[in-house]
Amino acid sequence: MQFRLSKVSLCPGITKYFRTPDFYNFVVSFFMIVVRDIHKSFGELNVLKGISLEIREAEIVSIVGASGAGKSTLLHIMGTLDKADSGFIEIDGARVDGLSDKKISEFRNKHIGFVFQFHHLLPEFTAIENVCIPGFIKGGSRKETVDKAKELMDILGLTPRLNHKPSELSGGEQQRVAIARALINDPGVILADEPSGNLDSNSAMELHKLFFRLREQFRQTYVIVTHNTELAGMADRKLTIRDGVIIN
Ligand code: ADP
Ligand code: MG
Repeated sequence: MQFRLSKVSLCPGITKYFRTPDFYNFVVSFFMIVVRDIHKSFGELNVLKGISLEIREAEIVSIVGASGAGKSTLLHIMGTLDKADSGFIEIDGARVDGLSDKKISEFRNKHIGFVFQFHHLLPEFTAIENVCIPGFIKGGSRKETVDKAKELMDILGLTPRLNHKPSELSGGEQQRVAIARALINDPGVILADEPSGNLDSNSAMELHKLFFRLREQFRQTYVIVTHNTELAGMADRKLTIRDGVIIN
């Protein structure tokens, strides 16, 4: 019988390595993201009122809910861009709430890729320069980063557009550049906030299919906020936020 070292999250905050027979790897699932009892208010407005969820490695989860329900707030907290008032977040076995700001930005740069509705590409840089920036910040070698960017952009069908500025690209191309930028440091987790919100329906469908192709290839975990019910339904699991909690 084959044995191997498995990383197992027994319960939130406790991640252990076990020697397990291969068989048990089918039974034991490792949670890539664990969120426990997150509360968040802005002044008098209680936006998140005790959100708990677990997301498995290489799972694609969509989050839906009315405008103002707190989807972006939750995504930002899961992505360490914002802090919860209370509660607990574990990503890839590491507790991230409570880390210092410096440690959090290092962690984020290595482990989490973001894709937003508005791509936030830097207009004065070319597509490939935009993709490389997080790699340079991480301190990777220039050549390795550029080679990796070219490879990713090839997978995303962007090879003919490497040296174009964002203003010279279509909405769909800009969003694919933003995805390549999110993937450059091989993060385990991709958080996408209305990634197709600004695209026509064909490009939106293409973009969502792309997430599935990338998951097959790179095995990242995806959390995708979308108001598009058809696209949300394509996910492995759909979570709905209402009145500050997840109702399913
Ligand atoms: P969603 O993404 O589901 O549309 P958000 O998470 O952006 O909703 O916002 C949830 C609620 O919190 C909204 O009522 C919004 O106005 C409010 N909100 C979000 N961010 C802030 C902030 N920085 N300051 C004050 N209120 C905020
Ligand atoms: Mg939002």
